[in-house]
Amino acid sequence: MRPSSQNVNYLPDNCIENPRPTVEGFVQIKAFSKINLNLEVLERRADNYHNIRSVMQSLDLHDTLTIKTETRAGDNPFIQLECNNPTLPVDERNLVYQAADYMVKKYGIRQPVRIRIDKRIPVAAGLGGGSSDCAATLVGMNQIFGLGLTAVGLREMGLRFGADVPFNVTGGTMLAEGVGEVLTELTPYPSYRIVLACLPIAVSTKEIFDRLAEIRTKADYVQNEKKLNNDLTPITSSLHPEINELITRMKRLGASDADMSGSGPSVYGLFESERAAQTAAQALNETIKNVYITRPERMRLI
Ligand code: ATP
Repeated sequence: MRPSSQNVNYLPDNCIENPRPTVEGFVQIKAFSKINLNLEVLERRADNYHNIRSVMQSLDLHDTLTIKTETRAGDNPFIQLECNNPTLPVDERNLVYQAADYMVKKYGIRQPVRIRIDKRIPVAAGLGGGSSDCAATLVGMNQIFGLGLTAVGLREMGLRFGADVPFNVTGGTMLAEGVGEVLTELTPYPSYRIVLACLPIAVSTKEIFDRLAEIRTKADYVQNEKKLNNDLTPITSSLHPEINELITRMKRLGASDADMSGSGPSVYGLFESERAAQTAAQALNETIKNVYITRPERMRLI
């Protein structure tokens, strides 16, 4: 039985290939969210980025991208972007626009494109939604225009738009090293139910990384020895104690383990059964609006 609350978000089982088989000039792709099952932040590089070692896992919570070519000549603007979430820009500031524009220019594409983003992944939540939409755009444009790029080529291209984009080009369960671009496929993660809770607080990824660097210089950093591990959890929690409280709450509600994803603020818990996940999600949903029951996603973008 499902909780009566309207706000817990249930996701349908996946039943289509990704991307969906193309009708000429049309492609629809699921852009999956991700969590970091493990996130070690290593040394700061000369370019000010940090090297990381992270186990990244796609989740079935996804946005849907629909890409269509327009046949009418003289369509203006050349790339038309629309999104069901009015808070997101639909111009050059959107990573989807940037990815499409880059490919149009690089490959001399002459047909106007219309792209629609159906957004379900919470924005700026540490779930990598923007990066995933960006990767899906690269994969979709590659398919719709028959560019013949491989996963490796698309990952290389993706890195210019963000460190998480290369992972999202394929998705699944991967070890990400370097800034996130050195990827090694791992054994698929067990099919836990994953309860995601997204607190309505704004976290600046840059600020969290800067704070971590500052604390480490002071040499009072304590390594976290849990099964799940995220080096950024103590940092974001020091600014927003409700993150740690939520992790503790998830465990009290029966999660075998729980942690923050990315630089936050999303927190996730692993549950052995659908029933246990539902009970926990319902309890969390009494105080938190955005609660999702998800599962690890194995489907590949390419
Ligand atoms: P990160 O940790 O990489 O900053 P995140 O997963 O926490 O990412 P996103 O949902 O990717 O958060 O959004 C981060 C920012 O990127 C937002 O402030 C948003 O305005 C911008 N952005 C640009 N394009 C998109 C997109 N297609 N979807 C979501 N956000 C986008």
